[in-house]
Amino acid sequence: MSVSVRGVSKLYGDQKALDNISFEVKSGEIVGFLGPNGAGKSTMMKIITGFMPPSSGKVFVNGCDIGDDNIEVRKRIGYLPENNPLYPDMFIREYLSFVASVYKLGNEQGKAIDEIIEVTGLIPEQNKKIGALSKGFRQRVGLAQALIHNPDVLILDEATSGLDPNQIVEIRNLIKEAGRKKTVLFSTHIMQEVEAICDRIIIIDHGIIKADEEKNNIYSRLHGTVQIITVEFDRQPDETNLRSIPDVTGVLHLKDNLWQIESAGKNDIRSQIFSYAVTNKLTVLSLQKKENNLEEVFRHLTN
Ligand code: ADP
Ligand code: MG
Repeated sequence: MSVSVRGVSKLYGDQKALDNISFEVKSGEIVGFLGPNGAGKSTMMKIITGFMPPSSGKVFVNGCDIGDDNIEVRKRIGYLPENNPLYPDMFIREYLSFVASVYKLGNEQGKAIDEIIEVTGLIPEQNKKIGALSKGFRQRVGLAQALIHNPDVLILDEATSGLDPNQIVEIRNLIKEAGRKKTVLFSTHIMQEVEAICDRIIIIDHGIIKADEEKNNIYSRLHGTVQIITVEFDRQPDETNLRSIPDVTGVLHLKDNLWQIESAGKNDIRSQIFSYAVTNKLTVLSLQKKENNLEEVFRHLTN
């Protein structure tokens, strides 16, 4: 099942939380929805799941307008809201039975609950009240309620926030596993998270989409903006000379014979640096290109 967001805007009073947003999540894709706090991620997710209407624009899930209040389509969506609101006084099974009854699972209910308790690793805690669970297990209950009706589309709002590193890895694995057969939109403000889980990344800031790329292509958003090379020569080069290398936009003396060279050009300037060294009878002792990471892309696009 696909999700198609078309020209969605959302105003809270006169504040624009979403400004004409459009994107697609194709069937079977795991897409990371990345943005700083206040970017509009939760607002977008509430609109996709039909919890809140947009001010303008439309969302289609599997081709059906979510605004049409189509129960059948809504039943195909699983949603883990931000802060995972749960009922602390309910027992896990009691709560999951309640959720299952909302989805009218009927005769399947008992089996569905047993299965989801196993899949989400809740067996050791299954007889506890939700309020007695650790944050990691509460998050599993949240995932269990999102998955119990075996939805085709999974919308997860900051599913790993507030967890310790071990819990984060466990929950990520659960999401990856669940995502093998589902369409997943996953919000986070943690860059490494999307690198670990997602096929594609959408970066949003101030209600506007800043990037929408395959994970492997997103790094190219920085290429062409800046390349940073660290180079060590066998002796001091002439700085003015160094600056005259084609495409070089900045030169910084780090220490001794170590220099940082920046370029805004699209071409790899390393070969230019070698030619420069040869022409000027310098020897290049080391040369390193700084790899762009997603964190830099994120800062570059959202600053
Ligand atoms: P994110 O999930 O990316 O942190 P949100 O969607 O929660 O962002 O919020 C986007 C913007 O809309 C923020 O500036 C936030 O303060 C504002 N906002 C969110 N919910 C409401 C609301 N119910 N009323 C007024 N403003 C809101
Ligand atoms: Mg949020």
